[in-house]
Amino acid sequence: MRIILLGAPGAGKGTIAKVLTELDGSVQISTGDILRGAVQAGTELGQKANAFMKAGDLVPDELIMNIMKERLQEPDCKKGFLLDGFPRTIPQAEALKTLLIDLEMVLDMAVSLDVPREEILNRLTTRRTCENPACQAIYNVKSSPTKIAGICDKCGSKVIQREDETEEAISHRLETWNEKTAPLTGYYEKEGVLMTVDATVTDDVVKAIQDRLNT
Ligand code: ADP
Ligand code: ZN
Repeated sequence: MRIILLGAPGAGKGTIAKVLTELDGSVQISTGDILRGAVQAGTELGQKANAFMKAGDLVPDELIMNIMKERLQEPDCKKGFLLDGFPRTIPQAEALKTLLIDLEMVLDMAVSLDVPREEILNRLTTRRTCENPACQAIYNVKSSPTKIAGICDKCGSKVIQREDETEEAISHRLETWNEKTAPLTGYYEKEGVLMTVDATVTDDVVKAIQDRLNT
């Protein structure tokens, strides 16, 4: 499948992408994970992106498009992909459209994950992430805690609160999302590929997407 997952921070894009990859071998591509990996590894990309990310601001479109142009040409994308956290702006969506035409890839749909704002705030402040860049497993101190406090179940690394998940950075990220990313639902509606789902329950979302793909 070739799907774009749209939704505010905390809407569950990453969680849903992981479940969907298991259905047909499509890969999850998270620009956030790629960027955090680059920051930890101290690469040139990481150095350029770091300050934007800490503040909860978007990384410039050009950097993101360079990443995605390369990433979508990796052989593992042939089976399909789930874009998680990209595109984030109208210019990124337009550049993606051109890129997909060049690569002769056709999108199945853009899925907009709807979650009430209160629930979003609640999820983000209680979210914890594995600090190992190769893992980045996501937990929640309330709804899905680690077996041993502060230690990742999957790889044994420390589980931390992300630097952009302080209350201040979160509210800034949500503002940025409203202003820059929310308009993408209108964009994909016009393109005729938008599907909107209530994303309060992960399993329901996965089922709705599967049903749509099979019709
Ligand atoms: P979220 O939990 O907010 O969805 P992500 O892990 O997707 O977070 O992204 C974390 C940060 O990485 C963003 O706040 C932004 O600084 C940067 N980022 C990720 N994807 C993009 C993108 N497509 N365009 C611009 N910046 C991005
Ligand atoms: Zn881990």
